[in-house]
Amino acid sequence: MVETADAIIIGAGIMGASTAYHLARRHFGRIVVLERDTVCSGSTALASGGIRHQYAQRVGIELTKQSIVVFEHFEDEFGVDPSFRQSGYLLLWHTAEELAEVRQIVALQQGLDVDVRLLGPAEVAALCPYLHTADLAAATYSPRDGYADPYLATTAIAARARELGVVIKQQHEVVGFVLDDGRLVRGVQTTLGVFEAPVVVIAAGPWTGQLGKLAGLDIPVFPVRRCKFFTAPFPFDKIPARTPFIIDRHDGFVMRREGEGILLGYNRPDEPSSFDTTPDWSLVPEMVERVVRRVPVLAEAQIMSAYAGLYEMTPDQSGIISAVPGVEGLYVLAGFSGHGFMHGPAAGQLMAEMIADGRAHTVDVAALSLDRFARGEVLFEPMTFM
Ligand SMILES: Cc1cc2nc3c(=O)[nH]c(=O)nc-3n(C[C@H](O)[C@H](O)[C@H](O)COP(=O)(O)OP(=O)(O)OC[C@H]3O[C@@H](n4cnc5c(N)ncnc54)[C@H](O)[C@@H]3O)c2cc1C
Repeated sequence: MVETADAIIIGAGIMGASTAYHLARRHFGRIVVLERDTVCSGSTALASGGIRHQYAQRVGIELTKQSIVVFEHFEDEFGVDPSFRQSGYLLLWHTAEELAEVRQIVALQQGLDVDVRLLGPAEVAALCPYLHTADLAAATYSPRDGYADPYLATTAIAARARELGVVIKQQHEVVGFVLDDGRLVRGVQTTLGVFEAPVVVIAAGPWTGQLGKLAGLDIPVFPVRRCKFFTAPFPFDKIPARTPFIIDRHDGFVMRREGEGILLGYNRPDEPSSFDTTPDWSLVPEMVERVVRRVPVLAEAQIMSAYAGLYEMTPDQSGIISAVPGVEGLYVLAGFSGHGFMHGPAAGQLMAEMIADGRAHTVDVAALSLDRFARGEVLFEPMTFM
């Protein structure tokens, strides 16, 4: 069986859904999304939903500036409330060296009109009285940031794309590429037949490296396990509902409210690449020690459950929004290294611009090209919290 389309998108996570939606808005023709499982069944479904401006590279800040507007007006555009809670992001910095680095980063962010504030320990204590702050050098606080529900958001984008005519084929695994001489894409082979199209976008999250191999390409996106832990319900008078999304990079944990409980993230910085998604319960004693030192009231909390998902890492911890050099019609949108949910709305729009107009123009994303790795011109993003 052979089906034809004007564009094929591999993967129905936030990146694939957003690209399909933006191509459909531009009346690009017949757009088919091929998903081996179901819509939003990969990394997006497991994301913590964090949306923040606090990056060290201009492009990361710009992608959030574009995307946050979409999250703020999401219900108008997609008809669904994505539960976007703008309770801010608070990043804690411990040492004088960290503070010196952060001052420069804050200057860049403020220069791009981001509302980010450098707080001293007393101001942090006033904002979050439950935090131990005496040993902090400073914190950076961006009040417009927050978190939304990745599943609600992505399924709503996919639903609107369908209304605009996009065909989403679930249970269709891509197992090969149809290429002319390796220089021109003609379509893909799936478990259920061939799909022909002059445009193919690889938006397969942590599996993008594997898809690249099927096309004979080295796309440096690799999976790394990330673990999250939920506490049992914890009193709101001790940690309020509107508490910021807190990142303590020094001690290696993240924390935010999740309904009645608290969501904690903690991992090994040297976790090897793998597709393993078994939660690592052996992390708990060390995590609890660090978390309770910073948030003493959490000594009363009980860890109730855990899960693990996959970050889709690149060597420089920045995403790829790119045509594949040397293979006409083939594109990659992947590798956002743990920032892909928040950047999905903008990234899909930019991918659609690249396909339909020949270049992305809303944000300059030349630095996110695939060939930067071969050229050695990497864009290291240190504000990636492993
Ligand atoms: C624990 C955790 C917490 C995170 N927290 C945040 C956060 O707070 N904020 C944030 O912005 N980001 C966060 N992220 C990162 C975010 O989840 C990803 O960057 C983003 O979801 C990537 O979206 P995607 O569409 O590229 O990938 P995915 O959502 O993984 O979608 C890829 C899709 O491709 C499909 N696929 C794979 N292979 C094939 C094939 N051969 N054929 C057909 N389909 C295929 C998969 O089934 C999948 O549905 C987190 C990630 C994890 C794991």
